Amino acid sequence: MDFNLSEEHLMIRDAARDFARTELLPGVIERDNKQEFPAEQVKKMGELGFMGLMVDPKYGGSGMDAISYVIVMEELSKVDASASVIVSVNNSLVCYGLETYGNEEQKEKYLTKLATGEALGAFCLSEPEAGSDATSQQTTAIDMGDHYLLNGTKNWITNGGSADYYLVIAQTDREKGHKGINAFIVEKTWEGFEIGPKEDKLGIRGSDTHTLNFNDVKVPKENRIGEDGFGFKFAMKTLSGGRIGIAAQALGIAQGAYELARDYSKIRKAFGTEICNHQAIAFKLADMHLEIEAARHLVMKSAWEKDNGINYDMSSAMAKLKASKVAMEVSVEAVQVHGGNGFVKEYHVERMMRDAKITQIYEGTSEVQKIVISRSLLRD
Ligand SMILES: Cc1cc2nc3c(=O)[nH]c(=O)nc-3n(C[C@H](O)[C@H](O)[C@H](O)COP(=O)(O)OP(=O)(O)OC[C@H]3O[C@@H](n4cnc5c(N)ncnc54)[C@H](O)[C@@H]3O)c2cc1C
Repeated sequence: MDFNLSEEHLMIRDAARDFARTELLPGVIERDNKQEFPAEQVKKMGELGFMGLMVDPKYGGSGMDAISYVIVMEELSKVDASASVIVSVNNSLVCYGLETYGNEEQKEKYLTKLATGEALGAFCLSEPEAGSDATSQQTTAIDMGDHYLLNGTKNWITNGGSADYYLVIAQTDREKGHKGINAFIVEKTWEGFEIGPKEDKLGIRGSDTHTLNFNDVKVPKENRIGEDGFGFKFAMKTLSGGRIGIAAQALGIAQGAYELARDYSKIRKAFGTEICNHQAIAFKLADMHLEIEAARHLVMKSAWEKDNGINYDMSSAMAKLKASKVAMEVSVEAVQVHGGNGFVKEYHVERMMRDAKITQIYEGTSEVQKIVISRSLLRD
């Protein structure tokens, strides 16, 4: 067992840390206020190779491992969780899904652009009537011979307004239940594809979340991913890796909030001494650090399993469940350590507290993670 990061991991950590400090931090409060998508920053992250971190270099990716992905996600999320979710969706839902399950033509046409940041991707599974129960897909894709006709509504789609390519899950044969579901690559410019209004959110306000409508969109046959009926498995397998990314996002929010609280406690004075000298505050910092370390071990272990070809369905659910709980608890405590200053935007921790909440909801709620974990335990 080796808990040290390699030279390569340290280099990517420093690059991500430096980018977050110099490029994300300066405008993060304003983007949160205005719900502004960080378009310029996303372009730069593409140039740095962050948009296709784990993709094979032959498709334009950085060819790194899942540990590197976790490291980058943590560093970006310490500063701007809106920017990091854009990275996470593109990397682990879109690029991973296409690279692992797409055919050579699909990879050449779409993955090469997504991995370099030339194009942005979105993953469309959720619907007004199909959230935790993703099998209840109402969106249909009817086989018309040389194409599918796509109709329906997807909601809560991250990168919904900014993406170029959308992986869309739809029911092709209702009688077959979840075995009659397929995944398709849909281009933004196709007729009948309509982007609905942007959601006004509690947190991760810099990421754009939209409802999408598909009205008789013609999807060429060659844009179906995998064998007929593979769509539900595609979504579940892809989400399993996505959870490592969201767990790392939660870890970063927690680590960022903790560091701000620690630093603040060393300068703020009350009762004639820095507040860190009050044991109640010092113990808060100890608890925060302890919980973050516990979460980090779970996140890293899951990434390590992915890198070593071990099934990571349960470990990624555990990592996400734990890290998201820690992000929520630590960010609330970070606000507390800041006192009144914690309640205003300038000190960042109130935004982190708002951002933390989503990590317990998307890519499977905490309750759903417990379903995944308990099913895995009972199957063994
Ligand atoms: C900001 C944001 C971004 C998102 N991005 C995307 C995206 O890019 N792509 C995408 O496809 N989706 C996305 N989602 C959707 C997200 O994945 C869903 O919101 C989530 O899966 C929960 O579904 P729901 O909202 O329908 O809640 P519901 O499924 O209605 O759940 C409501 C509550 O009931 C609980 N519950 C449901 N079933 C059970 C059960 N069997 N046992 C115990 N408790 C249960 C849930 O845990 C939850 O607490 C996003 C959501 C948000 C808010």
